[in-house]
Amino acid sequence: GKRVFSGIQPTGIPHLGNYLGAIRHWVDMQQGNECIFCLVDMHAITVWQDPIQLRSQIIEQAAILMAAGIDPQKHILFNQSAVSAHARMGWIFNCVARIGWMNRMTQFKDKAGKNREAHSAGLYVYPNLMAADILTYQATCVPVGEDQRQHLELTNDIAQKFNHDYQIDFFQEVQGLIPATSARVMNLRDGSKKMSKSDPSEQGRIELLDEDDVIANKIRRAKSDSEPLPSEVEGLENRLEASNLVSIYAVMANQSVDQVLRQFGGQGFSGFKSELADALIQHIRPIREETKRLLADEAHIREMLRMGAKKASAIAEPIVSKVEEIVGFIK
Ligand code: ATP
Ligand code: MG
Repeated sequence: GKRVFSGIQPTGIPHLGNYLGAIRHWVDMQQGNECIFCLVDMHAITVWQDPIQLRSQIIEQAAILMAAGIDPQKHILFNQSAVSAHARMGWIFNCVARIGWMNRMTQFKDKAGKNREAHSAGLYVYPNLMAADILTYQATCVPVGEDQRQHLELTNDIAQKFNHDYQIDFFQEVQGLIPATSARVMNLRDGSKKMSKSDPSEQGRIELLDEDDVIANKIRRAKSDSEPLPSEVEGLENRLEASNLVSIYAVMANQSVDQVLRQFGGQGFSGFKSELADALIQHIRPIREETKRLLADEAHIREMLRMGAKKASAIAEPIVSKVEEIVGFIK
């Protein structure tokens, strides 16, 4: 088995993109691997979070992950700030990474938009903390969505530069695991943007706690186009919204895009959309209901997180201590 690490920001309710691009693969990877799943609250505050809301989102997100099938007893589920190794390693990596590397990060450019100077310094160095999250556990496998590809490459650049600067073969190469399908689920209202928790409008995303009628409504009102669905994949070219809906349906129905188009090709969107909504509801309803059940016992969730943090610290502490020794700190 491998040591798997991945994280999600408690910045809102996880959506279909998080589920298809990441969470559902995390659940599968629990078979035969040692998995560490982290609610990255330190990343969350790179943009302002209301403290009361942040706290409740950490709990809620833990519940959602458990409801989706993450097992906090056999594996590790915890919040980042509860393990100090992340911050310590993150600082060292701020000193390893180069400003020029940061300047190439497209997520910062996307998130900061035009008004770069007004954003937190934390948002700018976020990828260094992400490298710390991974390398603090010497994890070798990191299942993430397509949007994290560049940050994983940076993680390997940092690992290599560290090894080179300190003349030691300490960090191994990290393998990203980016799924072949649905690695980038797009916004339902704008097929050129990825679905995001932090997007101000909820209409563009299906959240894992959405009620059945909300799901149906969002899909009904999702952007499409006036052409019927094509019978072949080529017919989806330059039709961002149509492609997105078809790929989501394919995953939900456990079919290939070809199969979906064979079934719906030539038809308009309305029938297709209602099938899609049904499929989504069937998948999401059990997660939503189990989350509600788990949230009735918040003390249990807090206990799971505490236990997770303890197990995570036990792995991280010797690694970060070694790194602190390598760079010349005195204990
Ligand atoms: P935020 O807007 O706060 O950054 P997010 O929706 O991007 O939220 P993250 O917490 O940053 O979610 O990412 C959690 C995981 O979900 C990561 O592995 C990321 O690659 C994956 N992910 C995020 N958005 C999508 C998407 N639209 N499609 C597929 N995977 C996604
Ligand atoms: Mg994100």
